[in-house]
Amino acid sequence: MQFRDLKKQYSVLKQDIDAAMMEVAASSAFIMGRPVKELEAGLAEYVGVKHRISCGNGTDALTLALKVWNIGAGDAVFVPDFTFFSSAEVISLEGATPVFVDVDGDTFNMDASDLERKIARTIEEGRLTPKVIITVDLFGLPANYPAIRKIADAHRLFILEDGAQGFGGMIGNKRACSFGDISTTSFFPAKPLGCYGDGGAVFTDNDEWAALADSYRVHGKGMFKYDNVRIGMNSRLDTLQAAILKIKFKAFREYELRDINKAAALYTKLLAGRVKTPVTPEGYYSSWAQYTICLNSREERDALQACLKEQGIPSMVYYPTPMHGQTAYKALNAPTDCCSTAKRLCDTVLSLPVHPYITEEEIETVCSVILGFVR
Ligand SMILES: *Cc1c(COP(=O)(O)O)cnc(C)c1O
Repeated sequence: MQFRDLKKQYSVLKQDIDAAMMEVAASSAFIMGRPVKELEAGLAEYVGVKHRISCGNGTDALTLALKVWNIGAGDAVFVPDFTFFSSAEVISLEGATPVFVDVDGDTFNMDASDLERKIARTIEEGRLTPKVIITVDLFGLPANYPAIRKIADAHRLFILEDGAQGFGGMIGNKRACSFGDISTTSFFPAKPLGCYGDGGAVFTDNDEWAALADSYRVHGKGMFKYDNVRIGMNSRLDTLQAAILKIKFKAFREYELRDINKAAALYTKLLAGRVKTPVTPEGYYSSWAQYTICLNSREERDALQACLKEQGIPSMVYYPTPMHGQTAYKALNAPTDCCSTAKRLCDTVLSLPVHPYITEEEIETVCSVILGFVR
């Protein structure tokens, strides 16, 4: 059994993907070729924002956003304590300081009341200026934007939506990557919409910010590539990746997102009441980057993972360490009790195999091992 079966996906889409790759080879337009523009147009329409700037990866997409807002030394950026390292790393890379915010134990996303506490404490301490809230749509579920937007407005903070795992998610009929003042995503192969290497994108409705992001991604270009008006990056989406993404995006819209939701629903039906299953709040729709259950303790979680492994079933711990506990962030001296839910989740979460091509039989097999274990 595969955790996320990219080989199966390729076997289904092979004819179109092979043709698209050959077409790029024949065109020799490897950088900023036509498929890049075509993909960008499709993405913006789907997400429902005015501007989209494709780039090298999801980490660069976050970096581009922080550069656009000129975030740097002395600035505080609020970020969930339970996420992939990248969400916080970009803050430090720009010279700003991450302030870790605890998450909600049901949705795994940023806890709005802890966000208020952390903002208040940062203001009280007076050392850093609050500037940005990086929300993460963890495991495919959009963050609590209704609550977080109110807090952001009250304190005049920007929201940077890290939609690396969230592409395809919704609140009502509004799509992920449209909730931030700037939003980003990643096309890393295992993300909800992935390419065959690295890729990412920035989304915004703001004309000025879009123009700045476009400049930063190509060496701070001005009127043209060899007119350099600011220090930028080299972060473009390869034409080859865009051509592959166009095919995969079609499958994503036509059936993959629907099918992965069916898979998640079956897991929940079979497991609910026996182990803690992921919570999707009323009106929310997830793109299921992960299907993550919670056990009662680290010992129980590790034993279940070993038991699944014995049966040939892969599972993953996303994430084993809270941000505040990472070696790279020791120097911040975050209090050990700063994010107790995040800490508990790191000990108890387990992500199960889920992808649009998983079969009902496979899900039943996984669930029977879990139910046998917890009995
Ligand atoms: C994957 C991921 C990123 C980074 O994306 P890359 O394309 O790998 O750079 C950022 N944030 C989150 C939450 C992610 O899962």
